[in-house]
Amino acid sequence: MKPFVSKLPATPVSIFSRMSQLAQTHQAVNLSQGFPDFDLAPELIQLVTTYMQKGFNQYAPMPGTFPLRECIAKKYQVLAQTIVDPETEITITAGGTQALFTAIGTLISPGDEAIIFEPAYDSYRPSIEAFGGKVIPFSLQAPAFRIDWEEVEHKITERTRVIIINNPNNPTGRILTRADIIALEHLVVTHGLFVISDEVYEHITYDGQSHESVLQSPILRERAYVVASFGKLLHATGWKIGYVVANTHLTAEFRKIHQFNVFSVNTPMQMAIAEYLSDINYYSSLPLYFQEKRDYLAKALAQTRFKVLPCEGTYFMLLDYSSISDLSELDFAVHLTQTAGVAMIPVSSFYTDNLNQSLLRICFAKKEETLDEAIDHLLKI
Ligand code: PMP
Ligand code: GLN
Repeated sequence: MKPFVSKLPATPVSIFSRMSQLAQTHQAVNLSQGFPDFDLAPELIQLVTTYMQKGFNQYAPMPGTFPLRECIAKKYQVLAQTIVDPETEITITAGGTQALFTAIGTLISPGDEAIIFEPAYDSYRPSIEAFGGKVIPFSLQAPAFRIDWEEVEHKITERTRVIIINNPNNPTGRILTRADIIALEHLVVTHGLFVISDEVYEHITYDGQSHESVLQSPILRERAYVVASFGKLLHATGWKIGYVVANTHLTAEFRKIHQFNVFSVNTPMQMAIAEYLSDINYYSSLPLYFQEKRDYLAKALAQTRFKVLPCEGTYFMLLDYSSISDLSELDFAVHLTQTAGVAMIPVSSFYTDNLNQSLLRICFAKKEETLDEAIDHLLKI
């Protein structure tokens, strides 16, 4: 009998599942896994029902329903002054995670190297490794998490194929600057690299700061897969619908894999989303909505012994607990869940070497009453 050989021998159950489970066990306020606890727009729910009643219940076209792809193209045109062809450059996916996995699978062959910036979203490493690639982590440190691009260049070898960026960044809440994008362009051109740009929080930016998509860079646009998620945009993480934008050639290659691991995505929801987002004002309403929550929580936390790090985008903030405990981030996160009734994510779990900086990630995409309950608990620490 041949032994079973694990593709991912060192991959545990994700920290998001673990902390959510722990929160449930201890009936703690769950500010760990990133999902809203408030309702979605009733009109959106009604639209899904309407499209089901109208008979939109069979396979969608493999790349996604055309109205949704058109709606995405319109968004890029109006908000980012960027022309994207809905026919050949947009593919609807089963969420951002599948989009990332398929984009990585399209680019990575055994032995190829992929540079990721840590703290990094948890799916990047196992996805790269599942296709035989090698992860080259580049560690960024609190509080600034700024990228030294000259140092990044030192990590590039003959085998480097792709750089993955996440902007705005989960978990740091940071946004890349124009200078970062220029530096990335330089590396891509000099070393012939590809980019996967995880932009699932593209519409959640604060204090008047806007996010620059790599699609807005003529250089990067030719070498990049851009990943987005309607879960974040519509407060519906359970719908698992997202999309990928890339030039015609990259999209054609993406679809060769996509059609055999998903084929197509939930039809009535695609139709409903396209109609709902025909109101382009929806996008501009998001920052203020979440900024109020960010500010509400940050103000309350200023009365606690936690120190809040700056958050420019996403619906996560980092809390420094160094003046409260010497425990490792994981131990402290578990301890807080069990004894204080609030669950958060240890930032060390976003680093290959589990770097401990006394930081926890807190999700503020929650109802005010949920935040109030957590604040009550955290004030006692
Ligand atoms: N990238 C980042 C940075 C995320 O935080 C998430 C989780 N929301 C995803 C990708 C995956 O998105 P989805 O839930 O649509 O799979
Ligand atoms: N993106 C979510 C987060 O960062 C988690 C998604 C998941 O659990 N896979 O919390």
